[in-house]
Amino acid sequence: HAENPDRSVAFYRLDMNEGMQQRMLIESGLRHALGNGELILHYQPKFEIGSSRLVGAEALVRWRHPVRGMVPPIEFIPLAESTGLIVQVGEWVLEQACAQAAIWQRAGLPPFRLAVNVSAREFTPSLPGRVAETLRRYRLDPHWLELEITESTLMHDIEHVIAIMDRISALGVALSLDDFGTGYSSLSYLKRFPIDTLKIDRSFTTGIPLDPSDCAIASTIIGMGRKLGHRVIAEGVETVEQLEFLRQAGCDEVQGYLYGKPLPAYEFEKSLRENWLL
Ligand code: C2E
Ligand code: CA
Ligand code: CA
Ligand code: CA
Repeated sequence: HAENPDRSVAFYRLDMNEGMQQRMLIESGLRHALGNGELILHYQPKFEIGSSRLVGAEALVRWRHPVRGMVPPIEFIPLAESTGLIVQVGEWVLEQACAQAAIWQRAGLPPFRLAVNVSAREFTPSLPGRVAETLRRYRLDPHWLELEITESTLMHDIEHVIAIMDRISALGVALSLDDFGTGYSSLSYLKRFPIDTLKIDRSFTTGIPLDPSDCAIASTIIGMGRKLGHRVIAEGVETVEQLEFLRQAGCDEVQGYLYGKPLPAYEFEKSLRENWLL
């Protein structure tokens, strides 16, 4: 009854093939989506706590699949990151966000900072040039663009990443550290990153005000961020209690369902005109 090595190998291959087939299916679908206008951006507002003013918005990508409906980024961004397709997705997102910002500014809306998410794989030496070229093409002031980068981006080749960040920062484009507190970046590097904003991850906001650890972590990030001269924003703010805690702790900005969910451009603009421009 000795094990048949060939058989177990065959099973293993079968499993792998299924996983790979699934991935290839999503990948080719995503490639098609890029060329076919199936990707869209939703926009979520960011508010300054002190003044209750809208100070910015984050662009979040969705895949409007003809059969599956609205596919959330969690179902295709990680795959796009592992296949490298994220570079094309990122190019589309930056292009689309700048086009929309130009439309809103030319329509006479007061300008606000528009943030796009940038994955580690997009963080190449060609990124600053592409950003500069896109801003020029849409005649946008670089100060109205912000790039959100996750801590994991900073774990790759730190010196290389800092050099690229410096070039982006020199353009006048704002940089924020997304999902802060969930990665493993060393605090000693924090002072070397040319960032404007620290973004407290939703996993900490969620526990406020009942979980003492989440409260302590959020307060500490706010205190440290502000002492380092950065603005601090909390994401995932859903309740008035969370807002009040963050206000007391000295947090600068908030983003979350309490204020507004991510919305398609026309709905975002409608809310902006009706509720958020006061
Ligand atoms: P993220 O950058 O941390 O974005 C915040 C996520 O939290 C968004 O999910 C947003 O819809 C959600 N959110 C905001 N406020 C609340 C709230 O009050 N409660 C709850 N429960 N959720 C809230 P979304 O849009 O599904 O995006 C998930 C992730 O996908 C993003 O996390 C980001 O890492 C990635 N992503 C989205 N768009 C892009 C993109 O254009 N490029 C790249 N590279 N990644 C993207
Ligand atoms: Ca983000
Ligand atoms: Ca997050
Ligand atoms: Ca994130």
